[in-house]
Amino acid sequence: MYGEFKEFLANELQKIKDAGLYKYERIIVSPQGAVIKTNDGREVLNFCANNYLGLSNNKRLIEAAKRAFETHGFGMSSVRFICGTTDLHKELERKISEFFGTEDAILYAACFDANGGLFEPLFTDQDAIISDELNHASIIDGVRLCKAQRYRYKNADVEDLEKQLKLAQAQRFRIIVTDGVFSMDGNVAPMDKILELAEKYKALVMVDESHSAGVVGKTGRGVTELFNCRGKVDIITGTFGKAFGGAIGGFTTGHKEIIEMLRQRSRPYLFSNSLPPMVVAAGIEMFNMMSQTTELQEKLHANVKYFYEKIKAAGFDVKPTQSAIIPIMIYDEKLAHDFAAELLKEGIYVIGFSYPVVPRGLARIRVQLSAAHEFEHIDKCIDAFIKVGKKLCVLKN
Ligand SMILES: *Cc1c(COP(=O)(O)O)cnc(C)c1O
Repeated sequence: MYGEFKEFLANELQKIKDAGLYKYERIIVSPQGAVIKTNDGREVLNFCANNYLGLSNNKRLIEAAKRAFETHGFGMSSVRFICGTTDLHKELERKISEFFGTEDAILYAACFDANGGLFEPLFTDQDAIISDELNHASIIDGVRLCKAQRYRYKNADVEDLEKQLKLAQAQRFRIIVTDGVFSMDGNVAPMDKILELAEKYKALVMVDESHSAGVVGKTGRGVTELFNCRGKVDIITGTFGKAFGGAIGGFTTGHKEIIEMLRQRSRPYLFSNSLPPMVVAAGIEMFNMMSQTTELQEKLHANVKYFYEKIKAAGFDVKPTQSAIIPIMIYDEKLAHDFAAELLKEGIYVIGFSYPVVPRGLARIRVQLSAAHEFEHIDKCIDAFIKVGKKLCVLKN
């Protein structure tokens, strides 16, 4: 039987390649950081990691993980509710709630699971989910698994959101669902307006802080800090795979009855293994760090400002950012791809994004800043952008 199926797959894979959409993996042989080593022996400056706070190779987190090996071993070999809950898991859940100013929290293997297991246990076909069109794939999948009526509004567009909320009055309960920071544009969800509309149209609000937690707001509490609405959002989801250390793990936090119901009914929680103690212990240490200092946020915000001003002054077409994601618009798909390839030759690792990840004709280079970057790294990156920009006639002079 496999022969025919194999041929079919080979054909499909070739189509992906022909469309220029095939994904290759670059092999890194060093820890994640501002400077990484690849398996061809080169050292490059990394401007495409979600390592916003530079914690992926942080000594304090590594030490905490090592201590947990000694005290709690390697793995749990159980889901949480059978025999997979340690004192560390409970402590990390408390720390998450403290950080976001919520009542309770529940851990998942990843934020993909947190979002995948969020909607189905809480809402039925009598309810409505009103979702931003640019929400993360895991939210889209989570919504698909739930029988609630679906409404979609244009990205961060409060007028369209209001329109959808009016239509959704037909249902029993409503929830507005949004990413905190949108990963392709670096813009934030207008939480102040969203909460106003939620009040007016009796809707709950859920925000996914994956790209904003640790990053956005003076102390990195995310978009609820940026918009001064801490404690007003009903449900927050997030990841330990980005700013918060970059290893693995996700969470949902919010009102205690919501978290309680998820512990009873959320399928990725009930049917998937508990996070390993070392990852949990490092998460606890990370929150300790976050409550002691805002040094990393200050450095990250200074780096974003420094890069943004320099790349704009160089004459590039840059989207205004409200996060640590800076899209440099190239528009043409092939040019964006060539631009990233040329930058890599100059020792700068960034990714060009094109259709279908972003709309046709809006291809771009996405730069992600980190507290791990020094100004000299950023200077090198800007110099490379200018050199390649001139070579490929993206810059006029
Ligand atoms: C990265 C991301 C996720 C997935 O997080 P994982 O923990 O890696 O599964 C979910 N939502 C958003 C908005 C993200 O950016």
